[in-house]
Amino acid sequence: MAGTEITITGWATRDIRFPTSLDKTGSDAMNAAGDYSSAYCILQTDSEYQGHGMTFTIGRGNDIVCAAINHVADRVKGRTLSSLVADWGKTWRHLVNDSQLRWIGPEKGVIHLALGAVVNAIWDLWAKVLGKPVWRIVADMTPEEFVRCVDFRYITDAVTPEEALQLLRDAEPGKAERLEEALNSRAVPAYTTSAGWLGYGEDKMKNLLRETLAKGYRHFKLKVGGSVEDDRRRLGIAREIIGYDQGNVLMVDANQVWSVPEAIEYMGQLAEFKPWFIEEPTSPDDIVGHKAVRDALRPHGIGVATGEMCQNRVIFKQLIMTGAIDVCQIDACRLGGVNEVLAVLLMAKKYGVPIVPHSGGVGLPEYTQHLSTIDYVAVSGKLSVLEYVDHLHEHFLHPSEIKDGYYQTPTEPGYSVEMKAESMDRYEYPGKDGVSWWKSEEAKAILDGDKI
Ligand SMILES: [Mg+2]
Repeated sequence: MAGTEITITGWATRDIRFPTSLDKTGSDAMNAAGDYSSAYCILQTDSEYQGHGMTFTIGRGNDIVCAAINHVADRVKGRTLSSLVADWGKTWRHLVNDSQLRWIGPEKGVIHLALGAVVNAIWDLWAKVLGKPVWRIVADMTPEEFVRCVDFRYITDAVTPEEALQLLRDAEPGKAERLEEALNSRAVPAYTTSAGWLGYGEDKMKNLLRETLAKGYRHFKLKVGGSVEDDRRRLGIAREIIGYDQGNVLMVDANQVWSVPEAIEYMGQLAEFKPWFIEEPTSPDDIVGHKAVRDALRPHGIGVATGEMCQNRVIFKQLIMTGAIDVCQIDACRLGGVNEVLAVLLMAKKYGVPIVPHSGGVGLPEYTQHLSTIDYVAVSGKLSVLEYVDHLHEHFLHPSEIKDGYYQTPTEPGYSVEMKAESMDRYEYPGKDGVSWWKSEEAKAILDGDKI
């Protein structure tokens, strides 16, 4: 980019919250009433370009993530884009290396969520300047360039940079064909959670299952963990509609409500509905617990999945190396942005664990479509599935889209999470009088209601 040096001159954060708790969208056994939110970071430059990144939260506390973004973004102010991306692994290390900020992590919790927003905003800016979608930047990298994006500290006992190079070289045969498939939007089959929220009534659930089946979906996920009787009834209804022998796959998600023995006992009672996996059976930090659940459920043919609250590559390393999971559910902004995701893709590839990203939240499908495409084209070479939840896409300039059961591969430059300016103003919290929904009469139901 000689001659077109771009400097980051500042940033803005926005606290955007959508009132999804009103209709129980997103409800599960742990998260009763979320307001899907974005802690948003906009990097400003001395050029026509801006970088947009965000982290997903479910409402209260989104302001805390915004405050943390202010600290992390300050570390790139005054830096040129080319100096940031020339040695990305080193840049990532710099961003997590403020010794005072590190104390409130390290590399986990609010400060790491903020890191995800900032790192992804840099990738968005870079992609816009290059005129490519983010997935394509990575797909076009040499193995050496890919490996240079990763900070290998704490994971070299799982995969070294040299091994990573070899894994990526091994994936090169067939890469041109997979790239072609991506360009034809055949790289990322979608699965749906739309019908499966715990707060939805029976009729709403049935209608949504029929609707999504007719749209070409073959994988369906239902929330469980409220009560075993209710779940048996709901899974029974789901199997009535999708069948057992028509190639349709059922998954279930408990969102961490159980202790380890409870998870094993409860899932034994759901085994006849033949779920592919139980997602988040217990605490996201409990590696030996996941391993115990996995070992106990193997005779039932039920796998274990987790990752949406896996705090960093170090915990993923342990889940993967100890054989605690069947399915690795990376999250685009719980991990510290694209770079840390690439680290986890490499470990998952080495140990043969499929990547099925967590994508049920505002902006997440927009992000994860890039990550699944990268995994398929450049890393694993294996077709997987990716969660799609059909709400709130209308707020994005380039929303993700499903056709015939596949994600339509993004082609616009950037990382696809740029939100429409009017949506940001309308749903900013606490927002401006007469502009923000949160200042309206309607909002009082949430603002004055119980905090559950
Ligand atoms: Mg989940």
